[in-house]
Amino acid sequence: MKRPDEGGARRAPSPGTRPPRRAPRVGVLSLQGDFDRHRASLEPLGVEVVRVTLPRDLAALDAIVLPGGESTTLLRLLEATGLRDPIHAFVRERPALGTCAGLILLARECRPLPAPPLEVLDVAVERNAYGRQIDSFSAEVETSVLDGPFLGVFIRAPRIRRLGEGIEVIARHRGEPVGVRSGRTVGLCFHPELTSDSRLHRWFLGEVAGLDVPPARGPAPAAAASPGGRGTGEDHP
Ligand code: GLN
Repeated sequence: MKRPDEGGARRAPSPGTRPPRRAPRVGVLSLQGDFDRHRASLEPLGVEVVRVTLPRDLAALDAIVLPGGESTTLLRLLEATGLRDPIHAFVRERPALGTCAGLILLARECRPLPAPPLEVLDVAVERNAYGRQIDSFSAEVETSVLDGPFLGVFIRAPRIRRLGEGIEVIARHRGEPVGVRSGRTVGLCFHPELTSDSRLHRWFLGEVAGLDVPPARGPAPAAAASPGGRGTGEDHP
């Protein structure tokens, strides 16, 4: 006699059926900077978010996010924790998204820094190039990879001063590049995690990293028009 279907999760796999695929696993470097905001952007997209503080945390990650913070401090902490070489190896091979200080870490050139950056994105960046904390701002960013503009939150943000060959500009503010991509590596001058608009995270996971993310439903959230959703991050590093 047939038993009623108890639902996919508990059904024994019939011969020839593949086991259910695990959720994509995305690491967020958590030495300094905003782990929680990135987690809040990523988790609703169906990924398992892993806090990366030690080399072993990189095992079995599908992609990594390098958040904002203070690039000088982050570089020192990468050395101190023994994470620099493993992270370097990871971002050379696997998808990486760097936001603000994270972009500085991924860049080929940025001086002066206490240690060389990871040099996987062929751009030169200048730290704090929009001014001091008080000059932080939010502005609409034009992007070629979404279905409309994105609200960029710029906090003591770097500016991209040179674009290497093969670098694709994916976002501009007043004509200037503020988002770049080279293959599976993406760097943003602004903080997409500080709005409730997760379209850039979704694009990174789906289009850049090739991970399974649920399709977007409906138009961009209203909070896309203001950074109010999860705070403006005005007091962020
Ligand atoms: N000004 C910081 C730096 O140079 C970056 C700021 C940020 O990540 N919000 O590293």
